[in-house]
Amino acid sequence: MGGTMSRVMCDFCGAADPGWEFPAENFRCLESGDGSAAESDGNWLACDACCAHICANDYELLARRSLRNPSMAAMRDLLGPEGVEYILEHARLFHAQFARHRTGEPVRRGAL
Ligand SMILES: [Zn+2]
Repeated sequence: MGGTMSRVMCDFCGAADPGWEFPAENFRCLESGDGSAAESDGNWLACDACCAHICANDYELLARRSLRNPSMAAMRDLLGPEGVEYILEHARLFHAQFARHRTGEPVRRGAL
């Protein structure tokens, strides 16, 4: 687990160099599978595709897209094929929390 990786990734699907930033307040995330709880700290980053899903309020597509996120993929490897629905449910809850805590419209990130 590299918590301080310098590489910038989409907070939803893990895509590199996301172009959008959603202002959000800090909040305590759902507990993850190992029982630890994470703190969401400030803004969320989103790639073009995830930003489009969020702006269209299409959280189902967003949840499915997030399956490609490396941390989700790791969980899927752990749980096997029947774990996909569990992971999707986890993603939906996680994204619902994000939806509650976001504070405004997405902003274009500066050129990297
Ligand atoms: Zn994304």
